[in-house]
Amino acid sequence: MSDPRSSDPAVGTSTLGIHGGAHERRPGAPVVPPIMQSATFFWGSPADGELLYTRYGNNPNQALLARKMASLEGTEASVVMASGMAATAMTLLALTTSGDHIVASTLLYGATQSLLGEELPRRGVESTFVDPADLSGFRKAIRDDTRVLFLESPTNPTLRVIDPRPIAELTRERGAVLVMDATFASPANLRPAALGVDVVIHSGTKYLGGHSDLIAGVVSGSASVIDDVTRVARLYGPAIDPHACWLLDRGLRTLDVRMRRHNENALTLARWLEAQPPVAKVIYPGLESHPDHDVAKTVLSGFGGMLSLVLAGGGAAADRFTDALRLAMVAPSLGGVETLVSQPRYTSHAALSPSALEAQGIPDGFVRISVGLEDVEDLRADFAQALDAAG
Ligand SMILES: *Cc1c(COP(=O)(O)O)cnc(C)c1O
Repeated sequence: MSDPRSSDPAVGTSTLGIHGGAHERRPGAPVVPPIMQSATFFWGSPADGELLYTRYGNNPNQALLARKMASLEGTEASVVMASGMAATAMTLLALTTSGDHIVASTLLYGATQSLLGEELPRRGVESTFVDPADLSGFRKAIRDDTRVLFLESPTNPTLRVIDPRPIAELTRERGAVLVMDATFASPANLRPAALGVDVVIHSGTKYLGGHSDLIAGVVSGSASVIDDVTRVARLYGPAIDPHACWLLDRGLRTLDVRMRRHNENALTLARWLEAQPPVAKVIYPGLESHPDHDVAKTVLSGFGGMLSLVLAGGGAAADRFTDALRLAMVAPSLGGVETLVSQPRYTSHAALSPSALEAQGIPDGFVRISVGLEDVEDLRADFAQALDAAG
């Protein structure tokens, strides 16, 4: 697609989530795009146009969703895949070749960190990790063979918010490609492409789907990058199933309205939690106490649904807190309608030693909350009784 916005009467985030990618309007056509649960499609010869095959990513459900995501991100094109990790892996395989170098943030999703630190080196692609809040680190680490700079923002679980603009400028100067995983924000809270990011990655499993019932990933960028990523994905094969695609499209229809409520509930709870004695610290980009509050105000249009807290009583208090929850559920993952609570030391950061956790700002007692869409008073009551139990 050339410019998704010029061909689409939809402009605002809510409207794009519902109508973006514009599906067929003719008498008798269904208002909701049907699930094309077919691996293959009638095709006689090249005169019949593009050959459709679901592994190719051009099944009608995949194609519609790709157009919708490109319009939401404000990029030329997108491609949807079977998971967020497929999106990241196919992007990095497409952008690099043996002998290339990557400069990546130290604050990354665990599997992304392993992909960069352990898997890609097996293929001759080395990464240097730098503190994402310090531009000079990127400047020092970048080399002539650096092909990709890789960022995640907001970060898990300390919710650092990185301004990608100066990093994008450096990337351009050096002829590299800036890739950013913006899963924690969703396109309703952050449009990385408008800030100079070349390639935007999402785990569709989280806010895009929004109901904790599917696994998906999306890559958005220029038509030429998306062509390259698609070419690699056709070889490695992480195509998304049409049914998951249809569910993801259904999720996008309410993305904006869900994100508004996530933003609102999380801010209300963060402010309240700050005043509770068993809570030593609340980490939320919408709070003035957050180190990136000013950056967050400039780059985000909402502070998001993720918040973290540190309990004064340490790990034992965090265990008592999570055991006592009756409404919020203890589970990894995030971005669904239901509130999920986890301790990173048991889940995403289980591989790190206590001292490494401490160094990353994740001491014992650290609890991550994916604030859902429940009535905020009910959540507050649940957290209040769990804090009593935590002591
Ligand atoms: C969950 C997540 C991923 C991986 O997504 P999957 O859909 O589980 O493969 C990548 N990045 C971030 C920031 C995530 O939260």
